[in-house]
Amino acid sequence: EEAQDVQRKVFKIIVIGDSDVGKTCLTYRFCAGKFPDKTEATIGVDFRERTVDIDGELIKLQLWDTAGQERFRKSMVPHYYRNVHAVVFTYDVTKLASFQGLPMWLEECDQHSLNASVPRILVGNKCDLTNQVQVETNIAQRFADAHSMPLFETSAKEDKECDNVEAIFLTLAHKLK
Ligand code: GDP
Ligand code: MG
Repeated sequence: EEAQDVQRKVFKIIVIGDSDVGKTCLTYRFCAGKFPDKTEATIGVDFRERTVDIDGELIKLQLWDTAGQERFRKSMVPHYYRNVHAVVFTYDVTKLASFQGLPMWLEECDQHSLNASVPRILVGNKCDLTNQVQVETNIAQRFADAHSMPLFETSAKEDKECDNVEAIFLTLAHKLK
């Protein structure tokens, strides 16, 4: 155990986006292996971890999940953006406003002078709600291309059709390693 800990690389990944897009469910799903029975609004900052084996190397991914509440944001934001290795921008495919909110989140990253080499990834969540889609894939892909990041559409719920939760975080782990 201890010997493994020494070798383990730890990467801090922040998951950001409007409230209710599914940030907590995505991080919980990846770290705990299932969709949470119920979620409460995140208070302040929360993080979950999972160690993955990437080509024989143990990589610990530390996923930071935030709340949208302004009163917490003011004090927590600088702490949140410190020593970040990767950013996951999240929107809800069934809520256009959450997609339109993305430039604000990109700007917040710029304001905290995240290094341009920090990998970014765009995630459209809730793809299981196929008949409620408001953000078409091609529109989201254009935005992702414009900001040089890959796009993943997924569902944090266990849904065979569009389950990319593992792929999202393992792709980042490969890039960070
Ligand atoms: P957060 O505010 O971004 O952390 O969002 P939560 O993770 O708390 O999720 C907000 C709501 O969306 C909850 O009611 C979740 O059950 C629901 N939700 C999250 N992910 C999905 C998903 O992939 N599919 C569906 N149908 N609902 C989801
Ligand atoms: Mg949350």
